[in-house]
This record gives sequence, C-alpha cells and structure tokens, in this order.
Amino acid sequence: MTDNPQSNLAGGPAGPGTESVDRQRRKLAAFLFAAPAILTHGREALASVPPLQLRHLHTEERLVIFRPPGGSFDRDQLSHIQWFLRDFRTGDTHDINPRLLEAMWRIQQRTDSEGTFEIISAYRSPATNDMLRNRSANSGVARKSHHMSGNALDIRHSEVGVGGLRKTALSLRMGGVGYYPKSGFIHIDTGKVRSW
Ligand SMILES: [Zn+2]
Repeated sequence: MTDNPQSNLAGGPAGPGTESVDRQRRKLAAFLFAAPAILTHGREALASVPPLQLRHLHTEERLVIFRPPGGSFDRDQLSHIQWFLRDFRTGDTHDINPRLLEAMWRIQQRTDSEGTFEIISAYRSPATNDMLRNRSANSGVARKSHHMSGNALDIRHSEVGVGGLRKTALSLRMGGVGYYPKSGFIHIDTGKVRSW
C-alpha cells in the first residue's frame, strides 16, 4: 500500500476554470473506482501511523488516507475526502469534520486492526435526510441529523465486529455513538458524548 506514491492525487484535475466541476468529478470518480486514491503528506506520514483504508459500500469507491504529520489536511486532500464522503444519492458535498477521521484512527489503534472501514452513510443533504425521515415512521433519522453538517458517519469494519466497534468508539468519548446491530453498523458523530 505504501509503495505506491504515484497514486497521489497532487497532479490531479487542473485548476479552477479549466474544466467543468462535473467533468472533474467524473474523472475523480473514475479514478477512485479504478484504484484507491492515496492521500499522503510524503515520507514523514508514511513512516508513522498506518493509513485509514476506507471503502464506500454504496459507491464501491476506496480511499486510503495517511494521517497528516501536523494534524491538518491541506485543501486538496480535504476536497477528495469531501467527495468520497458525499451524499451518494445526490452527489452533494459538504465539509467533513476531520475529528471523524481521527476517531477512526483511534479505533484502528485501539483494536490493533489493519482492515478496512466500510462507509454506509456520511454527508446527507437536507433532501436526502427528509426522504429518509419520511420513509418510515420509526426511521430513527433525526430532523437535524449530524450527517447534515458533515459531523457523522455510519461505519462498520472488515475485521472488527460491530459490538467491538461500538465498545471502542464509546471508550474514546469523542462524541455520540449509535448502535445498530441488526443492520451491522455503528453511527459516530462529533456532538455531545452520548450513546443509544
Ligand atoms: Zn448515522
């Protein structure tokens, strides 16, 4: 995984104004589909914490993210992360709270696992959230969901069972943790520390 720096996206789509956003998105989607996009800050990042390996269950896209040495991503990286974690129903993107990535790193560390985090839901546009809310009376979808502000993820893991994932997420005390064992995923958000 780490021996493929050519996959870095630094030389990706040209600057603003040269290509339509749609065209850039199509190219990026094709790239994400063809091979995991690898976001890295270079050698320093490669040597430290193992990267996050993400797979989106609805788009089948994959993304490998190296933890930035200084703790913050640059704009280019953030835009790739935002696109990967977009509302897959509408294609809308939104800022994504980097604390969600940090939570996944810590879960990976505490469970000593190297598998893949599978993304079930990330950003949700207002239209998608309304649709999900209206789908059933007991949808469990909040009117002001943290998903709508890029502050929540629904995830599972290829190596860690959903119970272990929940326990570990709770131990971090980084925000809310929802447990959906029947559907096989947990919800994490950056709101108040709470659980359901
Ligand atoms: Zn959720």
